[in-house]
Amino acid sequence: MYAEVIVDIAVSEVDRIFDYDTGGLDITRGVRVTVPFGRMTVEGFVIGLKQETDVPADKIRSVISVLDCRRIITEEMFSLMDYMSAKMHLMKVDILRLFIPAAMRGGRVKELKRQYASLSEEYRDRDPGEFIKPSALAQHELFEYLLTEKPEGEFVSELTKVFSASALRNLASRGIVVVRDAEQTRLPYADVRPEKTPEIILTDEQKYAIESISSASGKVFLLHGVTGSGKTEVYMNCIERTLACGKTAIMLVPEISLTPQVLRSFRNRFGSSVAILHSALGQGEKFDEWRKCLSGEARVALGARSAVFAPLENIGIIIIDEEHDSSYISDRTPRYSTSNVAKWRIKYNNANLILGSATPSVETYHAAKEGTYELIELTGRINKRPLPEVEIVNMCKEIASGNNSIFSSALLRELDKVVECGNQAMLFLNRRGYASFMMCRSCGYVAKCERCDVSLVYHREENRLKCHYCGNMYTVPSVCPQCGFPVMKEGYIGTEKVVRLLEELYPGVGVLRMDNDSTRTKGAHAEILGRFGAKEAQILVGTQMIAKGHDFPDVTLVGILDADMSLHMADYRSVERTFQLTTQVAGRAGRAAQSGKVVLQTYAPHHYVYGYVKNGDYKGFYEKEINLREVTKYPPFATIVRVLVSGSDDTKAAGVLKNIYAGITEIKEAYPDKFIYLAYMRAPVKKIMDEYRMQILARLSVGSDEIVDKIYETVEKYRVPKITSYAEINPIKLS
Ligand code: ADP
Ligand code: ZN
Repeated sequence: MYAEVIVDIAVSEVDRIFDYDTGGLDITRGVRVTVPFGRMTVEGFVIGLKQETDVPADKIRSVISVLDCRRIITEEMFSLMDYMSAKMHLMKVDILRLFIPAAMRGGRVKELKRQYASLSEEYRDRDPGEFIKPSALAQHELFEYLLTEKPEGEFVSELTKVFSASALRNLASRGIVVVRDAEQTRLPYADVRPEKTPEIILTDEQKYAIESISSASGKVFLLHGVTGSGKTEVYMNCIERTLACGKTAIMLVPEISLTPQVLRSFRNRFGSSVAILHSALGQGEKFDEWRKCLSGEARVALGARSAVFAPLENIGIIIIDEEHDSSYISDRTPRYSTSNVAKWRIKYNNANLILGSATPSVETYHAAKEGTYELIELTGRINKRPLPEVEIVNMCKEIASGNNSIFSSALLRELDKVVECGNQAMLFLNRRGYASFMMCRSCGYVAKCERCDVSLVYHREENRLKCHYCGNMYTVPSVCPQCGFPVMKEGYIGTEKVVRLLEELYPGVGVLRMDNDSTRTKGAHAEILGRFGAKEAQILVGTQMIAKGHDFPDVTLVGILDADMSLHMADYRSVERTFQLTTQVAGRAGRAAQSGKVVLQTYAPHHYVYGYVKNGDYKGFYEKEINLREVTKYPPFATIVRVLVSGSDDTKAAGVLKNIYAGITEIKEAYPDKFIYLAYMRAPVKKIMDEYRMQILARLSVGSDEIVDKIYETVEKYRVPKITSYAEINPIKLS
């Protein structure tokens, strides 16, 4: 017998299938093995078995060992691998790696084995006086405990915390207690315990949504409803119905939305059949949760992007909440779109997909309007809670009237009120650090990273200049390195400085900060939210991390300090992003009984996007935006392809770029009507980590799948060592 093996080395030259002699080992398709490869021993995935091989007998080598006692890659996942490698042009080994927890590779995690003790059936119903001496009190106590409290048994380690170990040994040696090995799984977030929740009477809109979805199969739904309109309740009911039919479910949320609140509501509803797949789990926990899916013990997988690969079988429903969130697109190798994978899986299983959002991406809403997806709307908030009032503040006027601070007078007025009434406020600024750059007042010199083409950000806590691309740190120059002038000016304010300014303005009210810097350690994120929830602080300052899914009943004010930040990016999605982000942040105000207020500060108060934000008018925004996209030919009326080439050798990278460009130009000549635009240039960020970056941008008319494939092939054709090159379709970032 021969095993077809994909070796676990990610180099494009070896993304092939190698044949090995099974050497009489018991091997099935879908297990991992170790095999000799060159002079190394490597892990590999067995993707097939066969009787014959083309490899000559003196060349064939044998499998060394089998790593898994059962198949870890299911048939469905093998088909998914074929699809992803054909359509997304990924290497098979990279795809297989997505399917298993990282720590399984290299054998870093194992199943946890522990000893488990229970009363033997034979002795259970007998009078212990017959076989335990009256003087052996410890043995009597232990027997009694196992009989009445733990009829199913208990871990030995738990028992010996309370009872004498020698008593246990004695009973075990006489067969009265049976001790055996049990697999124990680590339960993540064990402190998140279910609690009683009030009975919910579904609204008519919710009922309609649940009925429509549950009675369909193989369909994609867009569930559109403002935050607080009861979407989560719809998801959970649909999952319940799916489970009742004997099928399984996957629920995806953006990484930073997977809060204890979400976990609790799922545990309440689905108990131990929920597996949580989250990057914040320990390696062992991740492995256990994943294995619970594979074994069928878990029937609901709840997690961020990568949970779309949960090894559940017989999937009945997949839900992608906040479908517009950019974290659903993987922009690192292997690049994939979560919704494309989800769509493939629902097709395979004849299941349904729900895309849910308060602010769907323009492309998704368009597809729903066109009838590709079925649109279901939840029109109001539960309990008719009004959306918060949004006040648009013109920051140009503030400056004209002599207020140069980052807080407008309107915002200060509202903050005063919050502090006085003992309420809470959230202030949003999507820029971390203290000041965005340091500039010389005399010559205009701006401190830049030596390895990247970006300016450095001043971080006061560490008193260092940091590069946000590569993480490099630099000491702060006391005089300008270029002209020697002694005064350096600070650029735009970041979250760190906002906190300090607030502490000066409102001494003693407590100000917390949540951004990438303050949440670096495990559990820091939950801790900050916990402290804010416990009202240890009245103000929370944060980046887009605070925009998601947190329900704080006492938050009556949301301040958006610089709403325009995402507006002026050279990206066709910038207006859409601004609408989504500001709407989402605004939704944090007035979630409970008290009404909420939003102060939105902008230098472009008349930009149309803010009118729609103020009125919570998604449809108005959509109509305006879709018209623009149609006229200017941007997605969904075109497909954008970007080819990025980078390398430390600028000339060599440029050579590769030119080759690819020439190849694409040939395609363009053969299909002129498919190309709206084609050009090459340096990337907006010209250098990252000492690698020079350049790009080709193409805009294709709709229905150009064939052209996209040809572009992928061209990129592959001109791939050379040491130069990175890849194609992205409708990329989320164009930096
Ligand atoms: P969304 O996911 O759209 O933001 P949720 O489903 O989280 O909204 O609902 C918001 C709040 O309203 C939650 O606290 C939820 O428990 C509650 N809720 C949802 N549906 C109902 C209902 N039919 N009756 C009463 N409360 C509801
Ligand atoms: Zn750098």
